[in-house]
Amino acid sequence: MVDDCKGKDRVEALRREIHRHNYQYYALDNPTIRDDEYDQLMRELLQIEEKYPELVTADSPTQRVGGVVQKGFTSVPHRVPMLSLSNAFDEGDLREFDRRVHNNLPGEEVSYVVELKIDGLAISLWYEKGMFVRGATRGDGEMGEDITVNLRTVKAIPLRLTEEVPFIEVRGEAYMPKDSFLRLNEAREEAGEQLFANPRNAAAGSLRQLDPRITASRNLSVFMYAIGFLAGNNPGSHDKGLAWLRELGFRVNPEHKVCQDIQEVIAYCQQWQAKRFDLPYAIDGMVIKVSSLEQQERLGATLKSPRWAIAYKFPAEQAVSTIKDIILRV
Ligand code: NAD
Repeated sequence: MVDDCKGKDRVEALRREIHRHNYQYYALDNPTIRDDEYDQLMRELLQIEEKYPELVTADSPTQRVGGVVQKGFTSVPHRVPMLSLSNAFDEGDLREFDRRVHNNLPGEEVSYVVELKIDGLAISLWYEKGMFVRGATRGDGEMGEDITVNLRTVKAIPLRLTEEVPFIEVRGEAYMPKDSFLRLNEAREEAGEQLFANPRNAAAGSLRQLDPRITASRNLSVFMYAIGFLAGNNPGSHDKGLAWLRELGFRVNPEHKVCQDIQEVIAYCQQWQAKRFDLPYAIDGMVIKVSSLEQQERLGATLKSPRWAIAYKFPAEQAVSTIKDIILRV
């Protein structure tokens, strides 16, 4: 029994508020609070649920992937659920993640691959006999939106692979480069249309168009970062998988590093935190993944996120006002 009634009330208030923000963000591509403010609400909910586990419900936002499947698109099932990532906000959280990984793999050596966390929209691409046949959003993780026709307009997505792999599903991030985002918002401002809050929302809004000509005009790109499903032998490690994806013709971000321990991971994260604004696309953190696919499988996942990966979120920058400020600070 929870003796503290305030805890229960607060949990309900937080859930209502988070559901409302999820709808604005995932369904309307129009968030009304900053991501760090949202993360703070989520963290508070997690902390209360950790203290009072009897308050955890299956529909709590802490237990589910936050996306939606919009009407107007055909919904398609994912072969393997597309999960979210749990978050780390500082060095201590990263060390805690490393401790959990080692506790679950006692006595084993673990190496990590550290990648840029591209601030875009997760996509899943299916290839049959090397041909692109289906593209989908993450949606709620179980079901995504079929956006194949829109993804066909994105030039960085190969329509045919260099090898006739019988079946492969590849996952990655679709994003809008900063200069395209700036131009799009300037045009919208001139036309008196509502501005996109950030490149992530602009990319999501552009991909979830019922008219693919609009998507085609938006200059989107992709970085692919994982094999979701492969008929046949897997490449053994995540970094070998990335190299193979590149050989197959996918655009893979060159900025990633294999690290032998958490200290090296932290140093690489700090390095990118200092130069995040130098990139022509927005990143909101780093993603740390156990490299061995066999160890990944043994670590498994919760309903919401894999235990073998974590997102390190950069601290928020001060509030910005003009479009130009936004572009310099995303
Ligand atoms: P997330 O964005 O924190 O992390 C998971 C996602 O990271 C993956 O689905 C993938 O799309 C992406 N990603 C980028 N680069 C990657 C890489 N190299 N490897 C693996 N994944 C990579 O989780 P989420 O569930 O998509 O979104 C939750 C976050 O969205 C929140 O933490 C918050 O910042 C934001 N959000 C904001 C609001 C708001 O109102 N402001 C509302 C909902 C969510």
